[in-house]
Parts: sequence; structure tokens; C-alpha cells
Amino acid sequence: MKTKVDFPTINQKDPDGRRPDGSSYRVLVVDDSMFVTKQIGQILTSEGFEVVATAGDGEQGVEKYKELFPNVDLVTMDITMPKMDGVTALEKIMEFDKNAKVVMISALGKQDLVKQSLLLGAKNYIVKPLDRTKVLERVVSSLQ
Ligand SMILES: [Mg+2]
Repeated sequence: MKTKVDFPTINQKDPDGRRPDGSSYRVLVVDDSMFVTKQIGQILTSEGFEVVATAGDGEQGVEKYKELFPNVDLVTMDITMPKMDGVTALEKIMEFDKNAKVVMISALGKQDLVKQSLLLGAKNYIVKPLDRTKVLERVVSSLQ
């Protein structure tokens, strides 16, 4: 039987979602798709992040951000949502907290809205369908 000793590099890497002190980065997931919300949640929690709240539209996303503040480290923000779209919600969050770290989640073909979001202060963006490696890479770089 193989043991850990045979694979000395396995599990040596600290999970991306934890700070050096072991506490988790706290994420608010804003998306009107339950499927995408669940997918992002699974990717992030598997790396030690904590999803502290979810919201199903932009309006609720802004409200939750204000409620959680300052105990939230990052937001994933879908662009296309009912009531209030992600770009407007991003704008409102940035008005409230100019240091907010927001990563946009975009469908294909929304380059203009992605560009606009980056100008408004979004740290990065991810295009659907979501790829685990890309999600983690962009979330991690947004936290730095
Ligand atoms: Mg959507």
C-alpha cells in the first residue's frame, strides 16, 4: 500500500482560501443561477474559502454586502441578473466601500460590460462556463 511518504508533495500546499493564520477568506456570491452559485461555492469551499452569504439579484447583493461589511473579503458578481444587474450592483458596492474586491462572472460575449466593470473597480472577471483553476487563480489574485 502506498502511504503519504511515497508522495511527499501531496497536500503540502496551503489551501488558497486560508490566510497564513488559518482563518478563511469570506466570500459573498451574487448570482441569479442556483447552479452557478452552487458551483462557485463548491470550488471555493474545497480550497478553504468560506461562503458567508449568497444573493440572487444585484439589489440583494448590495444589501448583503452592506450588512456583512467589514466581515467580507470578496464578492463574486454575476453580470446578468433581474432587478439590478451586476454592473450597477458593483458600482453601488464601490461607492459604499472603495476597497471592495469584486470579481465579475460573465457570460460569453459581454466584453463591453466586463470592460465597464473593470473601469468601475472590479478586480477581475471570469467567463462562464466556470473552470475551477481559473476561478481560483482569479479569486486569489484579486485578494492580493
Ligand atoms: Mg445571471
